[in-house]
Order: sequence, then C-alpha cells, then structure tokens
Amino acid sequence: MPESCLFCRMVKGEIPADVVARTDDAIAFRDISPKAPKHLLVISKRHVASLDEADHSIDLDALMRLAAQVARNEGLAKSGYRVVVNTGEDGGQTVNHLHLHLLGGRQMTWPPG
Ligand code: 5GP
Ligand code: ZN
Repeated sequence: MPESCLFCRMVKGEIPADVVARTDDAIAFRDISPKAPKHLLVISKRHVASLDEADHSIDLDALMRLAAQVARNEGLAKSGYRVVVNTGEDGGQTVNHLHLHLLGGRQMTWPPG
C-alpha cells in the first residue's frame, strides 16, 4: 500500500533520503546499503509495485534517462556503470515500489548472482 510503502514515504519526505536529482515524475537518491562505490536508486514518484506492474502511468524511458543523467553527474559515464531492475522474488526485489539501481565505480561481474 502506498501509505506504508517505504519509497512512497521517501517521495513524501516522511523518511529522509540523500536525494541527488528530481524530476516531475522521479527522484534519484543514494542507496542506504551500497553494493558498489556508487549505488543510487531511481524511483518513480507514483507508486507502482514492480516492472511487471508498470503501465502507461509510468514513463520508463524517463526513468532510464534520469539514471543516465545521474551517472553522468556522478562521473560514471566514461568508466561505465550498470542499471538493474530487480523484479519479483526470483529477481531479488525487496522493496515493492518500482526502482532502478545505478551501480558504478568498480568493475561489474557477469553473470550477476
Ligand atoms: P531491491 O532489493 O528491492 O532491488 O532494492 C531495494 C534497495 O533499497 C536496496 O538496495 C536497499 O539497500 C535500499 N533501501 C532499503 N531501505 C532503504 C532506505 O531506508 N533508504 C535508502 N536510501 N535505501 C534503502
Ligand atoms: Zn510506493
């Protein structure tokens, strides 16, 4: 439910977040438990539980472009980075509000675990 959703509460400012970028529809902030030297989350302001539930009300292209903009701002564009959308149980999603992980600052491995 959006009222109790962690990321909705961060959008509303009820829970503090280290926000690095905002658009009308999305915000980007630093992950509380970074898995790389740079680890940011790009989330839609509107509550959608996962990529599986994303529909026309969410501009996925805008989320991706914000991730690329944040990557440039964080100095990652030249060295490279990874954008990940964990989805559902097998995907390892733990917060049920659509978000992109932006990871960089180290060599990523493939395949991911
Ligand atoms: P998921 O596991 O759903 O793909 O990603 C959820 C992410 O949210 C995790 O990387 C986790 O560290 C991050 N996270 C969980 N709680 C908080 C919080 O309170 N603040 C911030 N900034 N990140 C959080
Ligand atoms: Zn939410």
